[in-house]
Amino acid sequence: MTRRKMIAGNWKMNNTAAEGAELVAAIAASMPSTPAANAPEVVVCPPFTTLAAVVAKAAGTGIAVGAQNVHWAASGAFTGEISATMLKSLPVTHVLVGHSERRQYFGETDATVNQRTRAALAEGLTVIVCVGETLAEREDGSTMAVVERQVRHGLEGVTEAEMQQIVIAYEPVWAIGTGKVATDEQAQEVHASIRKTLGAMYSDAVAGATRILYGGSMNPTNAAGLLAQPDIDGGLIGGAALKAADFTALIAAAAG
Ligand code: PEP
Repeated sequence: MTRRKMIAGNWKMNNTAAEGAELVAAIAASMPSTPAANAPEVVVCPPFTTLAAVVAKAAGTGIAVGAQNVHWAASGAFTGEISATMLKSLPVTHVLVGHSERRQYFGETDATVNQRTRAALAEGLTVIVCVGETLAEREDGSTMAVVERQVRHGLEGVTEAEMQQIVIAYEPVWAIGTGKVATDEQAQEVHASIRKTLGAMYSDAVAGATRILYGGSMNPTNAAGLLAQPDIDGGLIGGAALKAADFTALIAAAAG
């Protein structure tokens, strides 16, 4: 099963509209006008206030634009929230759900990850569902159980057909923004286990077709080893997504 690789940039709370437009233009400028057959899908996820400017600049470049979160209701009394319908109207095509910073600082749970995921799927968005263990969980040997729980609960009620719109990002929390990257073997082991869980939940076909990204201090120096692993289908990139040169080097690394 050949899975098209994906390189997705999570800009977090960085870049004004003008800065975001400049960054996406710089990324686009270094991408070939005719993408190679093995070119990865490229996605950038700016903050909400920067989405419209980036969508406008990215039009026609082949770069897809995603949000960093989405609410489960279509509209209503949810001060400070943004719905899938609103994202789609921009139009945004992708959304991150369940990033560890949302889980850690904003009370995100497996149940709300599931609600957000299903609402985004219903609007036709591609959802990048983030999972990953903390350092304490890795040290006490519960990595596989934690990740399996997050995958199973996060995808509860998601149909086999909807799985075509799902991408999983495995992001060990201890590797995010710390400069500590998982070894190729550590990452591959968890990715293989996630694929096994998808096989048990759905089918071998779904397990074989679903892309599983690695995230956590991925950069142009360590990317090649990670991307060469059989179950690693790309990267969700934080810090290195804020520099056009680094991000484009990661796009090139994913093309092999
Ligand atoms: C992230 O926040 O999704 C991430 C992977 O960050 P970093 O690459 O900076 O570790």
